[in-house]
Amino acid sequence: MSTTSVLYHGFGVRGYKYLKTEYQKGNIIFHIERDPHKRCCAECGSKRVKKKGHFSRELRAVPIGKKKVFLCLHLHRLQCKVCRSLKLEPLILSFPKKHWTKSLGRYVVELLKERDCRRCGSAFGDELGYGKGDTPLGIKEEV
Ligand SMILES: [Zn+2]
Repeated sequence: MSTTSVLYHGFGVRGYKYLKTEYQKGNIIFHIERDPHKRCCAECGSKRVKKKGHFSRELRAVPIGKKKVFLCLHLHRLQCKVCRSLKLEPLILSFPKKHWTKSLGRYVVELLKERDCRRCGSAFGDELGYGKGDTPLGIKEEV
């Protein structure tokens, strides 16, 4: 099974292109970028866009065994040739201002159905914002 298939079927990564894998301090980091054919303007939806700058962002994903997995997204700022807007590519794998993927959120909700909250929180730590809200991660069941 290729890495692209693992990302698609295992982590729910769709519409992204696999770049490389890094192994750092026992963690697995998959580098991905938006599929060039799916890039479009965030304002008008036009595909006539030009890349204008980039940066990367790491999201925590569903673990593999006891290893932490991160998705390093290589995001581009896109200039639209139709409406002239200059915006960052939308982050469809996570919720705004969160550093974990939607699939990890669903995974934690499933774990909470079987485990008590304290054990689940210790498995994912404070970096997910666990325990700060009245519901774990602020995720509702329909996620
Ligand atoms: Zn546009």
